[in-house]
Order: sequence, then structure tokens, then C-alpha cells
Amino acid sequence: MGETFKAILISRDESRKQSVDVVEMTPDELMDGDVDVRVEATTVNYKDGLAITGKAPVVRRWPMIPGVDLAGTVVRSTHADWKEGDRVLLNGWGVGETHYGAYAGLARLKGEWLVPLPPRFSPRDAMAIGTAGYTAMLSVLALERAGLTPDRGPVVVTGAAGGVGSFAIALLARRGWHVVASTGRAGEADYLKSLGAAEIIDRAELAEPGKPLGKERWAAGVDAVGSHTLANVLASTQYHGAVAACGLAQGMDLPTTVAPFILRGVSLLGIDSVMAPKAQRLDAWARLAEDLPDETLSAIASGIGFDAIIDTARAIVDGRIRGRVVVDMQ
Ligand code: NDP
Repeated sequence: MGETFKAILISRDESRKQSVDVVEMTPDELMDGDVDVRVEATTVNYKDGLAITGKAPVVRRWPMIPGVDLAGTVVRSTHADWKEGDRVLLNGWGVGETHYGAYAGLARLKGEWLVPLPPRFSPRDAMAIGTAGYTAMLSVLALERAGLTPDRGPVVVTGAAGGVGSFAIALLARRGWHVVASTGRAGEADYLKSLGAAEIIDRAELAEPGKPLGKERWAAGVDAVGSHTLANVLASTQYHGAVAACGLAQGMDLPTTVAPFILRGVSLLGIDSVMAPKAQRLDAWARLAEDLPDETLSAIASGIGFDAIIDTARAIVDGRIRGRVVVDMQ
């Protein structure tokens, strides 16, 4: 009998009703690609939660194996950069959206999407970081490219107790920033402080419609929330500050005015992890390997098995997950 492996499959019926099942698959059923990777670890991102619950149109081809992040070992390759036994990781590129993704024993991928697993990290470490940590790193790198340094003033991180927020706090604190963490979960204050937050604010302060400009409170921001929260973050950013916008946990809208941009010279920096060019990915993973303390990884990550992916996907969309969930596929 040929090789089979378990996979999570999202399907749609004629009335476009979505269902999610655990199925047995064979390598022949995978989509085209030039590298096969044995998936050793994956993770559940907010986006994976949206895909599995169907709450937002993340999946754009049916059926689909969800899961946008994976780490594992190459078992077959016809791509010049990779050979059997190489340890690799993958974030995004439409995997889990338009190309079969991480929630399967085997993934068939394009070699150009893969990044070498930094020697410091195990597959599980890389998935504790996942798209969330890599996006937080891209955000920090964008603030640095905009010339922002910790001596300019505090930095605000919204969606603080989530995956992106947790990593953003740790990475910014590590480089000497005074981090203001905005959270709706006051009970997570000790966790956020352990990551390096200097101050905690209630996210309700930023969640409602606000004025075009407010008191200057921070020099920089990493915003995982969007909507009124991002508008208020911009309105309270100091002259010539910058905010990296990477998420939409409150909403996709941005009810702001041009005031922060034209009266205070504030910059809004867009962060997209999915199609980020390879050079940016390599930079981000190199900096993650350099900057992330081991204690941060263990503080942020909790572990589950394959069978708990679907329930965890529902929990993350309900905002019930703290930090990051690593899925051990072995
Ligand atoms: P999580 O669910 O782990 O974190 C999101 C956090 O946002 C929650 O923990 C919560 O933080 C806060 N939040 C949730 N709902 C609301 C609300 N209604 N109003 C205000 N705050 C809210 O998700 P991730 O960290 O994985 O992702 C964060 C965001 O970034 C998502 O929108 C995701 O789609 C996006 N993203 C974008 C990427 C890109 O390439 N640009 C890549 C990765 C993620 P707290 O409890 O502390 O208030």
C-alpha cells in the first residue's frame, strides 16, 4: 500500500456551505510543486482561524488544506536550492489559501517559497514564531527603516496579548524601546510585562471613534487591530513618528483623516508578510534568531496535537488564545 497521511480539508457544497473534515490523503492528491516537505510542526494563526471557521474569505480554492505556516524536512526535491534532508520553513505565499497548506503530514511546495530553518531554531521554535512573529519582525524592521529609534519616545503595540503583539513587545523591548501594550485582557498584564512591556493600557481607550489629532503619546506603533484603534494610534503619534499597520482584529476599515500625516508628518507603514520578497524574509528570520530570548519563546508558546487544530482555530477567532499555539505533527 502507498504512503498515506492525515490532512484537514475544507470543502464547499453547491450552496457554498463550508465543511471541515479530517481525511486520509496520498501524495498523488497534492497540488503541483517541486519540493515535498514532511511537516514536523505548524501553528494556528488568526488567519487559519478565519479559514477554518469561514468567517472571512481566506480560502480561495476548494477544496483546500488550510495552514499558512510550516516547518519540516525536505523528502523530495527537483529544485536546485533544496535536497533531501534540508530543514526548511514556510510562511505565507498563499499556502493554505490557494495552495494546499500545512495541516497535512506532507506538503508539496515551490522551492522559491522556502527559507532555511535558522540553525538556532527547532521546527517547533520556528512555529512558535510563525507568521505572527515574522510579521512582528517585519514591522520592527519597517520602523527601523523609517529611522525610528528608542530615544525618540515610547512605542505602542496593539492587540498586545495576541501572537503578533506578543512578539512585537518582546522584539521592541529587546532593542531598548519603552513599550506601551494595549490589551483588552487586564488579566494578562503580568504576561505582557514578562515579555518586556513597560506600561499596559486598556484597549477600550483606543477602540472608539476619536479626534483627528490627540495628545502626542508615542513615537511609533505596531498595530495588529486596524479600524478606530489604528486611527487613534495615528492621532496620538508624535511629530515625524511612524506606525506599522499589520492587522485587522478590530476591523478592516480605517476611519482616519489626513491630519496626522500632513500636520505631524506621521508615516503609515504597510506590512504584508504573505508576498514579502525572499530577501526581507531572510533578514527577518536572521534578526529573529539574533534577538529572541529563549525565555520569550517558551513564555509565548503552548503546544497542541493535530487533533486539536480545529477547536483551536475557533478559539483564536473568538479571541480566547494567548500568545502562540504550536502544533506538533509527529
Ligand atoms: P491573535 O488573535 O493572536 O491576536 C489578535 C489580538 O487582537 C487579540 O489577542 C486581541 O488582543 C486583539 N483583538 C481581538 N479582537 C479585537 C477587537 N475587536 N478590538 C481590539 N482588539 C482586538 O492574532 P495574530 O496576532 O495572529 O494576528 C493579529 C492580526 O494581524 C490579525 O488581524 C491578522 O489577520 C493580522 N496578520 C497580518 C499579517 C500580515 O501579513 N499583515 C500576518 C499575520 C497576522 P488583546 O486581547 O491583547 O486585546
